[in-house]
Amino acid sequence: MSVAYISSLRSKDPRTQVGACIVDKNHRIISTGYNGMPNGCNDSEMPWESKQGLESKYLYVVHSEQNAILHAKSDLTGCTLYATLFPCNECSKSIIQSGISEIVYLSDKYKDMEQTIASRFILNMAGIKYRQLISDTKIEINLNNTRELSKQQILESSSRLLYDDDKYLELFYK
Ligand SMILES: [Zn+2]
Repeated sequence: MSVAYISSLRSKDPRTQVGACIVDKNHRIISTGYNGMPNGCNDSEMPWESKQGLESKYLYVVHSEQNAILHAKSDLTGCTLYATLFPCNECSKSIIQSGISEIVYLSDKYKDMEQTIASRFILNMAGIKYRQLISDTKIEINLNNTRELSKQQILESSSRLLYDDDKYLELFYK
């Protein structure tokens, strides 16, 4: 679930970030995904609002579960999908068709919405197991290594934030 959560952080959606991770019977990671625009569709040119009509992100965004399934390079029969949010009906269709046999989810905040009710209905009928992960685990990840690097290394790094903002860089060397 931690890998699914970290995947969700890559989403450009300003409101809802969802991540998924598929593992095989030996708990080896097969694939990950997060909600995002289709390949080749520029994030900055696509709508991210929940508006009506063609301005709605819902017409374009590929959900994390679908991305994880589509990016998988191997057969998913018997695999388990970890998702930070209970899958919608569209994703559950893909989950069922892919052969995934179990879903572990973190949040079920849309449990009363039609999409979620329909999702549970088809998952039950297809015999896909699903369970909520109850956890009070907190994981802190610190990727800050700038104190170990020379100023030149930071300047040469591809990090635009550090490269472009000299004042920010100076802060590290006080
Ligand atoms: Zn979905």
